[in-house]
Amino acid sequence: MRSHPADYELVAPNNLPSVLSLLAEEPGSWLPIAGGTDLMVQYAAGHLAARKLVSIWNLPELRRIEILPGEIRVGAGCTYTDLIHNPMVNREFTLLTSAARWTGGVANQNRGTLGGNIVNASPAADSLPALLVYGAELILASVRGERRIVYENFHTGYRKTQCAADEVIRCVCLPRQFKNYRAYTRKIGARNAQAISKVCLAALGRFAGGIIEDIRMAVGSVAPIPFRLKETETALRGNRIDQALILLAKKTAADEIQPIDDIRSSARYRRAVTANLVAELLNSFNNADNKNSSVLARWNSLPPGEAALEILPCCGSNSWARQLAALRPIQDEDSLLAASDKIWKSLTEADWMEAFAHHPRIGQSVAPTTAPARSAQWSSQEQQKVGAAGSDMIAALSEGNRAYEQRFKRIFIVCAAGKPAHAILDILQRRMRNDDQTELQESAEQQRQITSLRLKKWISE
Ligand SMILES: Cc1cc2nc3c(=O)[nH]c(=O)nc-3n(C[C@H](O)[C@H](O)[C@H](O)COP(=O)(O)OP(=O)(O)OC[C@H]3O[C@@H](n4cnc5c(N)ncnc54)[C@H](O)[C@@H]3O)c2cc1C
Repeated sequence: MRSHPADYELVAPNNLPSVLSLLAEEPGSWLPIAGGTDLMVQYAAGHLAARKLVSIWNLPELRRIEILPGEIRVGAGCTYTDLIHNPMVNREFTLLTSAARWTGGVANQNRGTLGGNIVNASPAADSLPALLVYGAELILASVRGERRIVYENFHTGYRKTQCAADEVIRCVCLPRQFKNYRAYTRKIGARNAQAISKVCLAALGRFAGGIIEDIRMAVGSVAPIPFRLKETETALRGNRIDQALILLAKKTAADEIQPIDDIRSSARYRRAVTANLVAELLNSFNNADNKNSSVLARWNSLPPGEAALEILPCCGSNSWARQLAALRPIQDEDSLLAASDKIWKSLTEADWMEAFAHHPRIGQSVAPTTAPARSAQWSSQEQQKVGAAGSDMIAALSEGNRAYEQRFKRIFIVCAAGKPAHAILDILQRRMRNDDQTELQESAEQQRQITSLRLKKWISE
């Protein structure tokens, strides 16, 4: 039977302390409602047992994404759309962006929140495997204070969690330590869009010289709670991917899961699909690794001048390119990026200026004529989002560039990849307040990031 609105009470305090006080006054009587995309389905079906709802939708304390040096903190009230549009999440936590993109349709993404997905605790929830492989931690808030727990321990059984009746999740902490990992994720549903997962898998892997140094895999929809495939991970670590290892991993993963028959699928199908996804992810990691290795192997064998010339567009400084080429042979992506960073930081101010001068102004895709064609092509890809801005924004950026160049006597450098024009304008305006030394260091750091991104593109092309 459908629910009747008169049977329900809804209050909407506009700050977190008031919500927490209410939850503490009558523990268990009030249920937080965020986007309502799970609760309203229960309500419509007449299954919503809680009669008193306290809205936490759009509370500022739950809706921000804080970027700290060692982690990012995603407010539990952030929607999937917030995640999809956040440049930091896009850059460093791509598994979460992918999960957000395939959660429901656009309306659901505008309303559904990360905290709601976690507390609703469906074994089929799409963002949860990503949180597991990223080693997420949760900060829970109540009038008693805050506590921080490892997300992996949050789900204690089917639809059971560690969240007490007087608590809300304030934010999800994601450590920033997976930049050098390959990422793989796949959701298998009845169709590509707007389907609940039959199996979903998220994984990260780090390689050195073709060997799996570290691998983290998590699955959803194949047990009462989403979980890490730890036995399969252990079987893989320290090994080179070949057919025998793939077979072993498929079998270990199929043995590790506890799927059931239900309305969406059968246990047998889920077991077979999980094993196949593990094989697919290992093949995809291996192909990427072979590709990187073959670019590096070819580059390692070039004469020094040619090797330096080939990587010059990644940075723009001749001294950087010569010094990096002199360090060959370089075996893998991690070693390449570490060597590049070290050289870049040791360069002179004149070398930095040479690199800065290779870039087009932000908002103008035309690179200086001295820049190699490859550099110009990368610049235009990096500024793709800026190119989508309207004429007013482009004019504001152009004025910002002019003021910057007048103030600092050089072009404004920012790692533009994934950033929309308005975000770049904000950064420019903030950096106009820097003193000369601080601004030089910020520009150098931005150029370091640009160089890393370009090196990654170069070895995977
Ligand atoms: C059409 C449709 C399609 C969907 N597709 C998918 C999909 O593809 N993949 C998927 O994973 N999910 C899907 N969902 C489920 C749903 O959108 C997600 O689980 C969503 O993230 C829930 O967030 P919410 O804010 O709407 O939660 P709500 O419905 O507001 O709350 C859900 C539960 O979480 C609790 N809660 C919410 N926030 C907090 C907090 N900060 N602290 C403590 N408790 C909290 C509530 O008390 C409630 O128990 C779909 C839903 C619909 C209606």
